[in-house]
Amino acid sequence: MAIQIKTLDQLKLMRRAGLLVGQTLELLRTSIKAGLRTDALDLIAASNIKRGGGTSNFDGYHGFKGTICVSINDEIVHGIPGDRIIEEGDIVSIDCGAIIEGWHGDAAISVGIGKVNAADQKLMDVCEESMWRGIAAGGVGENLSNIGHAVEDYVRSQGKYGILQEYGGHGIGTEMHMEPHVLNFGKRGFGPKLEIGMALAIEPMITRGTHKTSILEDEWTVVSNDKSRGAHFEHSYCIAPDGKPFVLTALDGGRAKLASLGVEVSGLLN
Ligand code: MG
Ligand code: MG
Repeated sequence: MAIQIKTLDQLKLMRRAGLLVGQTLELLRTSIKAGLRTDALDLIAASNIKRGGGTSNFDGYHGFKGTICVSINDEIVHGIPGDRIIEEGDIVSIDCGAIIEGWHGDAAISVGIGKVNAADQKLMDVCEESMWRGIAAGGVGENLSNIGHAVEDYVRSQGKYGILQEYGGHGIGTEMHMEPHVLNFGKRGFGPKLEIGMALAIEPMITRGTHKTSILEDEWTVVSNDKSRGAHFEHSYCIAPDGKPFVLTALDGGRAKLASLGVEVSGLLN
């Protein structure tokens, strides 16, 4: 199936959805603390998305109950909000999405609660940086697999981490999950060439141990098989009509971070 190509006007709508997701995640980052139940975070996200004129793309997705996924420690992705209480030292991964006028945004952060041990902090830092390296490698004319190669190359350079293989990034637009699937590993030079108007969600998921995972009895929560802690970061970005990338879910469009990696962000979106 062909990868959806968006016009500038459509990308502007995607930016509205993406910005709402980014703002909601910032609100969650500043609200999260030890003692909170994960469903309290879900309520914060739901009301902020509503206030921003969006609707949730997670709620009801294949039966999922929640506006966000909340995954703690050895839970890596797809955790369901509920009565679990967040504790000091936890790694909490929050995945959030929203729709505005039919266009989707999707992003995720991992947050350390209070005092986090150095190895856990490094896990999160490596995961986040690998996401940016992937976006930086996904410019116009690049092969799709160059993204996953950049993610893997950076993660491997930082130590022994497990990179999840059954889950990855994806195209995004009029649906949350679209073609193509974006691996977080692999060789350069494979897959379609990236074109103006494409939008992709880049989302590395790594652990301090194995890459192997299982799904809990709730049929959603993905945990590492060796109980090692995981991290998950995600941004949705596009290639604008000027051939430059723009990070739809980053508050500054990815300007500061991509500049530090030598990549100029499009001036057509803001
Ligand atoms: Mg997501
Ligand atoms: Mg996603």
